[in-house]
Amino acid sequence: MRQPLVAGNWKMNGTRSSIQELLDGVKGGMGEVTTAEVAVCCPHIFLADVQQQLQGSAVAWGGQDISVHESGAYTGETAGGMLAEFGCKYVIIGHSERRSYHGENDQTVAEKFAAARKAGLVPILCVGETLEEREGGITEEVVGRQLDAVVSHCGIDTLAEGVVAYEPVWAIGTGKTATPEQAQDVHAFIRARIAAANSAVGEGMQILYGGSMNAGNAAELLAQADIDGGLIGGASLKAADFLTIAKAANA
Ligand code: PEP
Repeated sequence: MRQPLVAGNWKMNGTRSSIQELLDGVKGGMGEVTTAEVAVCCPHIFLADVQQQLQGSAVAWGGQDISVHESGAYTGETAGGMLAEFGCKYVIIGHSERRSYHGENDQTVAEKFAAARKAGLVPILCVGETLEEREGGITEEVVGRQLDAVVSHCGIDTLAEGVVAYEPVWAIGTGKTATPEQAQDVHAFIRARIAAANSAVGEGMQILYGGSMNAGNAAELLAQADIDGGLIGGASLKAADFLTIAKAANA
C-alpha cells in the first residue's frame, strides 16, 4: 500500500507574513487529513520561518532545488546539507521550470537526485513532456528518457528512495489539467518502466501528478490507480484549497 503524498510547490511566492497565515491555515486543517502525508516546498529564504512554524506538526517541508555540489564557490546555490540543516525532508528535483529556464538537462537532474540522497533528503523527481512532445506522440519516449537518466546514474535502489512526479509541462500553471485518463496512462507507463528494472520498486514507487491540480479536479485524478498524490503549485498557496486536495488524497 503506497501512502498518498500531497506536496505544495510554492515556487517564488509569498512573504514572511503571508506564509505564516498560510501555514496556520494548513496546520489548522490537518486533523481531517488522516491518510495522506502533507508537505510544502518553499523558497529557500523562508526555510527558517517554515521550520519554526512546522516543527512538531504533521506537515513536512522541503526545498525546491539543490546544488550538485556540497559546498564552495557556487553563488546563489543551496547545498543539500543546508536544506537538511533546516529540517527539510523533501527537495524538488528537475522541475520543468528549472529544466527550461535554467538549462537543467537529464544528467544534471540525475546528479541532483544523487546529491539529495547523499544529504539524506527525499528527492521529488519531476518528469513530463511539453505540448509539442505530446502532440508529436513522444510522451513515453521523453518521460522514459528522463527516468532512465536517474536510474543509470544513481541505480534503481536509489530511485526507490525518492518520489516521482509526473508533471506534463503543458499543464503546469496553465489551468489545463491532464484528464484523469491521460494522467493515469502516463503514471501506469512510469510504474511499468520502473518495474521493468525492479518489480518491487515499481509497485512501491509513489508517483504524484502535478499540473493545475486544484480543489475541484483533485478527487477524480487521485482516484486513479497509479496516482499516489499530487505536486501542487498554485492551489498550494491557499490553505483551504490545499487542504481540500489533501483530504481528497485520504480516500
Ligand atoms: C508545479 O509547479 O509543480 C505545479 C504543478 O504547478 P500548478 O499546480 O500551478 O500547475
